[in-house]
Amino acid sequence: MENLIQRFLRYVTYDTQSKPKNHHCPSSAGQKVFAQALYEELLELGLSDVTIDSHSYVMAKLKSNVDYPVPAIGFIAHMDTSPDASGKHVVPQIVENYQGGDIALGKGDEVLSPIQYPELHQLHGKNLITTDGNTLLGADNKAGIAEIITAIEMLIADPSIPHGDICIGFTPDEEIGRGANHFDVEKFGAEWAYTIDGGPVGELEYENFHAATAEVICHGVSVHPGTAKGKMVNAMHIASRFVLMMPEEETPQNTEGYEGFFHLSSACMGVAKSQLDYILRDFEREGLAARKAFMQQKVDELNKQLSKGSVELVINDSYANMKEMVEPHPHIIELAKVSMEHCGVEPLIKPIRGGTDGARLSFMGLPCPNIFTGGYNFHGIHEFITIEGMEQAVSVIVTVAEKTALHYKQ
Ligand SMILES: [Zn+2]
Repeated sequence: MENLIQRFLRYVTYDTQSKPKNHHCPSSAGQKVFAQALYEELLELGLSDVTIDSHSYVMAKLKSNVDYPVPAIGFIAHMDTSPDASGKHVVPQIVENYQGGDIALGKGDEVLSPIQYPELHQLHGKNLITTDGNTLLGADNKAGIAEIITAIEMLIADPSIPHGDICIGFTPDEEIGRGANHFDVEKFGAEWAYTIDGGPVGELEYENFHAATAEVICHGVSVHPGTAKGKMVNAMHIASRFVLMMPEEETPQNTEGYEGFFHLSSACMGVAKSQLDYILRDFEREGLAARKAFMQQKVDELNKQLSKGSVELVINDSYANMKEMVEPHPHIIELAKVSMEHCGVEPLIKPIRGGTDGARLSFMGLPCPNIFTGGYNFHGIHEFITIEGMEQAVSVIVTVAEKTALHYKQ
């Protein structure tokens, strides 16, 4: 699969870091350039309905090669890379036949070490693609794009593999939570889809948090400190009292698996007004509702305790658990599972402790679980991927297309 690696190495040369402060879509010029290149590549592959829209969403279809009806399925990946680390001048290193121990990244002191990342112990004998220690790699999610296009190329090259209509979509600004904003589900045309945006081989995800944000706004009174006696109400003191009313054990640093949390993510402090920004996460809808009610109860309590000043609470929902939208269609997960098993990959089903574009797309009418890319340590300079894992992702995509066609064969 020479094409797969060449393709991936070509894609990571595009700087497509998304920019949260830019409110245009796409949020960075590099994504536009990359989208245009992908658009041309899909045209060249001879796909139908190849489009690029004004927000740089790229879509295309591979037409069915069977004479019976099969639901159209989709594969989706995102073009941007995380704002958390530079994606400019990415210089990938290929480590052939990894034999354990530290991997020097580039010429500096930076290493990729099994002490920090014990999963490296499982990768002896594999071929790794790492960074040079200065940037992220961009396997998140250019590996997904390379894997999808290579799988499509294989389906075109081998007409003996039956498949229905395969829709592919590449989205901008996923890393800043906007990848679904302008996604035209109807135009995309699939009944369900898979994002190819997961980590290690076998990952299959269709559960994520129910999520909300909460602003705790504390109102005080600002007076010159020299004449403040009996008049000043320091909103920062009110805010700190509130922070201490929240349960310490229900924070990201103290939870895992299916446990939810309250997370104080930032604060803007002043005497007259202080604001605490929380995110609320829970895998159950009732659990999230209980968290909202808990915060309101604490705000009410604090307001009762205060003789001066006040607190208010503003809560907004962010996204919901896609499980609600995916579970009514068990074949979506089943097809991914049997395809992985067919490819010798053990499915690792686990909840996503975050949100994905797939979650939002699921609630827009396109159920959309997430499948592995084969990558590790996304969003930082220690990001890497195995060539073997990428090849397995390609095989799984091809097999999902095939198994879906066979499933609907009369
Ligand atoms: Zn991603």
